[in-house]
Amino acid sequence: MDKHLVLVGAGHAHMTAMAQISALQTQGIKVTVIGPSSHHYYSGMGPGMLGGTYSAADISFPVQQMVEAQGGIFIKDRLEAIDAGKRSLTLSSGNTIAYDVASFNIGSHVPDAEVLKAGEVFSVKPIENLQAGRQRILALAEKGMVDVGVVGGGPAGLEVAGNSWACGRERGGKGCRVRIYAGKHFMARVPVKVRKRCIQVMAGRNIEIIEGSYVAEINTGEVRLADGRTFQDQVLFTAVGVRPNPAFTRSGLETGPDGGLLVNTYLQSPKYPEIFGGGDCIYFADQPLAKVGVYAVRQNPVLLANLQAQLSGQPLTPFDPGGDYLLIFNCGNGEGVFHKSGVAFRGRLAFWIKDYIDRAFMRRFQP
Ligand SMILES: Cc1cc2nc3c(=O)[nH]c(=O)nc-3n(C[C@H](O)[C@H](O)[C@H](O)COP(=O)(O)OP(=O)(O)OC[C@H]3O[C@@H](n4cnc5c(N)ncnc54)[C@H](O)[C@@H]3O)c2cc1C
Repeated sequence: MDKHLVLVGAGHAHMTAMAQISALQTQGIKVTVIGPSSHHYYSGMGPGMLGGTYSAADISFPVQQMVEAQGGIFIKDRLEAIDAGKRSLTLSSGNTIAYDVASFNIGSHVPDAEVLKAGEVFSVKPIENLQAGRQRILALAEKGMVDVGVVGGGPAGLEVAGNSWACGRERGGKGCRVRIYAGKHFMARVPVKVRKRCIQVMAGRNIEIIEGSYVAEINTGEVRLADGRTFQDQVLFTAVGVRPNPAFTRSGLETGPDGGLLVNTYLQSPKYPEIFGGGDCIYFADQPLAKVGVYAVRQNPVLLANLQAQLSGQPLTPFDPGGDYLLIFNCGNGEGVFHKSGVAFRGRLAFWIKDYIDRAFMRRFQP
């Protein structure tokens, strides 16, 4: 009888497994993929979609088509809960699915509910929100200068600020006055020379960086900082970091301190060996990993190998997170900031390298 492999979330860490569905089925493994949408957006290119460099089609994988073209089953639904003892998943529709082995790649969300009291904001996850934010800026910029606020002074905040600025100038738009509410310090976790270059790019566009206090409350376009200062914005984005999907804590599974699914060196739950995971939704017990797509991408081949091995009783492969990784921030308008192994520079070449790498990744997983 066929073994049933269920891939929950058609995210970045499941790309290789999804590309191998035909091969898995010939090995007697039935594959089901569960995801809320027929497409998965590549986050690395999301800010570029906001800034008009890419269309939504350029940066999304048609995951449903990818799965079904290979004879797999795609269920458009969301995971609600996991009953690990019974090897069963409950979906938002109320349906349940049984599995022999399940792998989770259900990502993370922006925890902005704590500050958002009333009104609308575009959180940077899911990436689709950036498309909605873009439409809002384009509509307002036709009539006049748009006040855009970006809550969060990390890499995602930087990219969204730079690309909002670029978006406001498209199609004869009147432009955007962009403010970044950066908390204590802007780009606090990158080396000083990288930070300096990011500040230079923002300064060249009159993007205001507000430091020294965190946002305490957002109330229908009004941003109030903890130190009492208030600002008005027509369009607000939130980029205040991410937290793993809450499905694991809700299901009573073992998690790390951030609520991510606890996995061992094989990307496997220590308590339930038939459960695996990758990407932002896991907590890697060997060492905490930054929530960057780089790790999700590196986990791909190990996840595939271990899912097959677990289903066939073969030994598992350890995941090695690897060393230093390349970071290039897309600042919009064809400019980027490059950082790798102590080398940092800004300009068009930086963006060109990122664009080349990102487009190659997109091509690799097109059906
Ligand atoms: C604006 C921005 C720019 C970024 N740029 C970069 C970059 O250039 N380089 C880099 O390395 N990292 C970057 N990151 C970080 C990167 O986004 C994450 O590390 C990466 O998305 C993690 O991939 P993932 O597949 O784990 O999660 P996600 O990309 O969030 O994918 C999760 C998938 O699970 C699905 N899903 C969610 N909930 C459920 C559910 N309940 N049931 C079923 N499916 C579900 C979602 O629809 C989605 O398809 C950026 C992040 C942001 C916000």
